[in-house]
Order: sequence, then structure tokens, then C-alpha cells
Amino acid sequence: MTPAITVRNLRKAYDGVEAVRGIDIDVARGEIFALLGPNGAGKTTTVEILEGYRHADDGAVDVLGFDPITGGSAYRARIGIVLQSSGVYPFMSVREVCALFAGFYDAPRQVTDVLAAVGLTEQADTRVRKLSGGQRRRLDVALALIGRPEVIFLDEPTTGFDPGARRDAWEMISSLAEAGTTVFLTTHYMDEARVLADRVAVLRRGEVVALGSPASLIGDRGARIRFAVPGSVDASTIATVAAAPTTIDSGVATVEVDDPTRALHALTTWALTNGRTLDDLEVLRPTLEDVYLELTGGDAS
Ligand code: ATP
Repeated sequence: MTPAITVRNLRKAYDGVEAVRGIDIDVARGEIFALLGPNGAGKTTTVEILEGYRHADDGAVDVLGFDPITGGSAYRARIGIVLQSSGVYPFMSVREVCALFAGFYDAPRQVTDVLAAVGLTEQADTRVRKLSGGQRRRLDVALALIGRPEVIFLDEPTTGFDPGARRDAWEMISSLAEAGTTVFLTTHYMDEARVLADRVAVLRRGEVVALGSPASLIGDRGARIRFAVPGSVDASTIATVAAAPTTIDSGVATVEVDDPTRALHALTTWALTNGRTLDDLEVLRPTLEDVYLELTGGDAS
């Protein structure tokens, strides 16, 4: 099947400053794809080019067979967009705004269904200006969904959401993809990318520095074993037992291991044999956030 989105050697500069420097991305139909990267990495520029709001300087972009710039209303009818911030019709009710937007499409979703999907049923008759920040964001998502889009672009969809609302949004986004909608999102939340995305691209200074499933990016990086140091044992003793580099900081040993099973076995056997306990023992796997910080240098782009 042809990809929903194809990006080839995309380039964009503002006043000579290169914001996007030769990006290549394919997004399959029904895939949830997340663009990650520090502030200024080029995420919004890329999304806005895909949405047809910005001209690329160079390269090729195809969404559902359309060039977003020339696709016009036929293109807009098939995509949904949630911008980073929006402020629509403050004096209309939530239901009225949704009905207004539904009127722009040939085969819109039912307003009540969309409000239920984004958790705004109780606010249906509330005026937009009286919604909280998170509720407005939900309304933005509702408006993006109402036209039954095949591809939905979500620029930081859950910024400002409380944890419960974020979980609800994740469920909604997952169910959209399960129903066949392609989801292209940007996010600063690594847990969001980890939970939602089939694949992520990490952008740094306008370039893709990693691309793949969150699990593949984490890959087979090793793990850390941590425990409170028993008695007066020093780092070199633990390192010898575990056959792995060990540091001790404030009475807590951290052992960097490739094979946690083997190292745990060696450490617990040693502790039992010597009548000691490994208090607060834990095995920590690297997270997507660890990998992201490594890839991006942990600083702004
Ligand atoms: P954030 O996470 O902060 O939203 P981003 O990854 O979306 O960042 P962009 O908004 O695409 O990054 O910006 C990329 C670079 O292009 C930045 O250096 C930014 O200052 C610059 N830039 C973006 N829009 C414009 C503009 N309209 N005019 C000039 N420079 C711009």
C-alpha cells in the first residue's frame, strides 16, 4: 500500500537560517507517527509544510497523493489539523462550533459522537470562552475529527492536559488509528510517544537523528542495577562480583550491565553467601527519554 505521507529531502530556511535540513520520512496508512525534538528543531515547520500552510524551499512532500500546497479544498476535506494553539468563536457553545465545522464537510461525524470521543459531552452547551485550557484543546481535537479525516495532524495535542485527560486523549488517538486514521503528531512528552507511536523520528537542528519504533530506539541498551550498599563494601568489590562497572553515590551502588539476569544472579548469590541484603534493589531499563536526551544532547537544538 502506498504510504499516507511521503517526505523527501525536505528543506526550509527562514532568512537564511535552515530550520529543516533534508528530512526523509514515510508514514504508513493507519500508523501513529511522532515527531520529537527540542524547541526549534523544526517540528512545527515540518508539520505546517505537510498541512499546506508553508512552502518548502526544496524536496518533495506527498500526503494521500496530494501536494499539500496545491491540494486545495479536496486535500483539506481529507485531513484534520490541530494547531499548537487556536482560539475559535469564543461566544459560541461547544456544540454550535462543532455543528458549524461539520457543515464544511460532505460526510461529517455526528457532533455528539465527536464530543463523546474527546470527553466534552458535559460541556456541549458551554461557551468556548468559558472552557479551561485543556478543554479548549479537546475542542480543537474535536474540530479536527469532525470531517472524518484520513490523516490527522496533532501539534502537541496534550500540552496543558491533566494526567487523566492525557490518558483519555491517548485512548482516543489510539482508537482513531485502530479505525484506520493515520496520525502524525509532535510531542515533547516521551511517555506519550512511547505509549502511542508506532514509530518516532527524533529531529535535531532540522535533521532526523533517529527513526524507528520506540522499542527499536531503546534497543538492547543495557540496564542499571541499583541497591543500597551493604555495610562497608566498596565499588570495586561489587564491580568484581557483578563483572560490570560500578559506582557508589550517597550509599547507593549503580551497576551498569549488559546482561541483568547474570549480574543479578551473581550479586544476590554473593549477598546471600555473605549474609548481606541488597536493600532497595531495582533494575532500571533505559527509557525513551534517556535515548532522546542522548540523541539531542539534552539541550535546546
Ligand atoms: P517547538 O518545540 O518550540 O515548537 P519546533 O521544533 O516546532 O519547536 P520550529 O517552530 O519548526 O521548531 O522552528 C524551527 C526553527 O525555525 C527555529 O529556529 C525557529 O526560530 C525558526 N522559525 C520558525 N518559524 C519561523 C518564522 N516564521 N520566521 C523565522 N524563523 C522561524
